[in-house]
Amino acid sequence: MIYHILIILLLYIVFKLSDGIIAAIDRWRIKRSILSNPIKRYEYYRSGYTIREVRRLRRLPYRDYLKSYHWDLVRSAALKRDGNKCSDCGADCAERPLEVHHINYARKGNENLDDLMTLCRECHEERHFIATAFE
Ligand SMILES: [Zn+2]
Ligand SMILES: [Zn+2]
Repeated sequence: MIYHILIILLLYIVFKLSDGIIAAIDRWRIKRSILSNPIKRYEYYRSGYTIREVRRLRRLPYRDYLKSYHWDLVRSAALKRDGNKCSDCGADCAERPLEVHHINYARKGNENLDDLMTLCRECHEERHFIATAFE
């Protein structure tokens, strides 16, 4: 009789453990799928941003801003969204270096992807040249 109880108890423990393991594997797979997609990865990190962190990013000199981990995340997300091609001429990174351009700086430090566009170096320079020409 005592054996029956022990066996049932053992089965229960094994069942609970495997449940926990399956849940852990599931969480790991979800996290991996988030982190392997640059757009989801940016959204994932962004959801944890504090006002303080965004303020710190906004205060950085632009040169330092471009070296930040935040910019690395945003940049990869914008490139992914634009299919790693220049939005103006369609060149890819094998043809020309690609850069990510701010359409506006309103949300610097916490950009929506709509605030950015991927441009090749030439089209990027052209955009800035046009912008300054009409200033
Ligand atoms: Zn281009
Ligand atoms: Zn630009």
